[in-house]
Amino acid sequence: MKKCEKIYEGKAKALYTTEDADVLIQYFKDDATALDGKKKGIIVNKGVLNNRISSRIFRYLEKNGVKTHFVDMPDERDMAVKKVKIFPIEVVVRNIVAGSLSKRMGIEEGAALKETILELYYKSDPLGDPMINEYHIRAFGLASNAELDIIKAEALKINKILTKFFDERGIILVDFKLEFGSHKGEVLLADEITPDGCRLWDKETRDKMDKDRFRRDLGNVEEAYQKVLEKVMR
Ligand code: ADP
Ligand code: UDP
Repeated sequence: MKKCEKIYEGKAKALYTTEDADVLIQYFKDDATALDGKKKGIIVNKGVLNNRISSRIFRYLEKNGVKTHFVDMPDERDMAVKKVKIFPIEVVVRNIVAGSLSKRMGIEEGAALKETILELYYKSDPLGDPMINEYHIRAFGLASNAELDIIKAEALKINKILTKFFDERGIILVDFKLEFGSHKGEVLLADEITPDGCRLWDKETRDKMDKDRFRRDLGNVEEAYQKVLEKVMR
């Protein structure tokens, strides 16, 4: 599948049209940002690793009954996806306290939760993705009630599938961010599932294997992403 015209360039990926009006190519870059874009850098080869990791996970989710935008991986940095209208909502699923939840609640990172938390954020770079709730989604028409019900149910189903998937590969799925879009009336999981948008800890050592290594200058960032790729390919 050939890339035609670049229609968007984001922080981590660019989007291209293809000869098929229903299909886009997501091109995975090495650029990394954190702290609302204030911290910028490059993680060498990240684009290639993230494309492979995400393609593997989307294929696995499809096999387990989750509808995704994934079509194909035609090249090492290219992912062919169904073109969707992205809901301006970031869905965060949390199994263990970390990151902004740790700060907001004043509870140490790594603390257990009695149950999984699902959080909703308004996808807006200029506003720094503020947290919202279902009332905001309805009041501002960010998604219909039926769509929101599907988004929530799918997010929790994906969490169940991936928690087990990672556990079997020696990784704890601490938290992660999902984006959904609509395509011909269907709600599909879109964007990516990679160490950029997930917290992944080694089950034995609890070492971080995700973007926190970049955010917090912990070193060995590429090595961690590479290790995640090796584990998810099993
Ligand atoms: P950002 O826009 O936050 O900088 P990226 O650099 O990852 O993020 O850019 C990829 C963009 O493509 C995101 O805005 C994402 O919402 C959007 N996107 C992901 N999957 C699809 C899809 N299947 N169709 C249309 N847009 C998509
Ligand atoms: N996340 C993301 N994009 C965002 C915000 C969060 O991919 O714009 C992911 C992040 O990698 C983590 C989870 O969502 O796996 C929860 O992030 P948190 O709210 O703790 O924010 P952070 O402290 O990472 O900014």
